[in-house]
Amino acid sequence: RAKAAGGNRFEFADAEADARAITRHGLTNALPAALERGEFFIEYQPLVHLHDGSVHGAEALVRWSHPQYGVLGPDRFIPLAERTGLIVPLGRWVLEEAVRQARNWQRQHGCSALRVNVNLSPTQLHHPGLVADTVAVLENSGLAPGALCLEVTESALIGADDELLEPLRRLAALGVDIALDDFGTGYSNLANLRRLPVSVLKLDRSFTQGMQQQPADPVDVKIVEGIVALAHSLELAVTVEGVETGAQAAQLRELGCDTAQGWYYARPGAPDRIHTLSLSDAVPTS
Ligand code: C2E
Ligand code: MG
Ligand code: MG
Ligand code: MG
Repeated sequence: RAKAAGGNRFEFADAEADARAITRHGLTNALPAALERGEFFIEYQPLVHLHDGSVHGAEALVRWSHPQYGVLGPDRFIPLAERTGLIVPLGRWVLEEAVRQARNWQRQHGCSALRVNVNLSPTQLHHPGLVADTVAVLENSGLAPGALCLEVTESALIGADDELLEPLRRLAALGVDIALDDFGTGYSNLANLRRLPVSVLKLDRSFTQGMQQQPADPVDVKIVEGIVALAHSLELAVTVEGVETGAQAAQLRELGCDTAQGWYYARPGAPDRIHTLSLSDAVPTS
């Protein structure tokens, strides 16, 4: 398009690409000091039970409070941290912080059912310290392994061999839940699901979007129906992401999905917002 619009547009597009590359470079270089200076913070987005809207837990979503650019979302810096390996210490910090936070929620509300979800990137999966670090973080905090769910994208596990799956198997054996994030976008072999030590499928937001129109997109309805049937027959729970309207929530509830996450319920926010939500909605266990 830039080419058709003439030389000036083309140069402009080039300059823009240059500026983006320079910013990327600058952000990459700034990551280690940012971690040391404590510029990262976590927002938590509630996960609710679809059948009654009660709070099941929350997903930890990392942000960077950059002194010059303001708050940056993970899509801006996680890929950079992945490439340089900084994702390992950054991810460990997120895990530690989120687990500590979950334990605080439980203590404050006497509600041991509250759980926390933490995203793992492919580099973290390959890192030899993953299992030991996770066990240490859980032990230091006193959080039960069953209250932690690690989210791994479907694409990170495509073609995964036993060596890659071994740490996840060990974590699952300890009681940690493993969720397959962005499920349905990775073209994975469904039969492969049986091999994976996962207990939750997180259906990608693109399916939720198909439930927005009235009536819902019939193809998406069929697909979700099929995925839910398959998941439940394998004893996996189904979480849906990106629920923005009540109509979507109703449709997905009807299709048998178990838990949901999205702006309809709550945007990601400060940890104390979970307090107020869980106080009124969560079902206490002990
Ligand atoms: P994800 O794990 O699939 O997280 C869900 C994303 O959807 C989040 O974006 C969340 O803010 C957004 N979202 C939630 N509800 C809605 C909704 O109703 N509508 C729409 N349009 N969006 C919604 P966010 O926070 O920008 O995170 C993007 C991705 O960054 C995450 O996708 C995850 O893959 C990655 N990420 C976030 N935190 C971490 C982390 O600590 N470590 C790693 N490795 N990756 C992370
Ligand atoms: Mg996730
Ligand atoms: Mg997701
Ligand atoms: Mg997603």
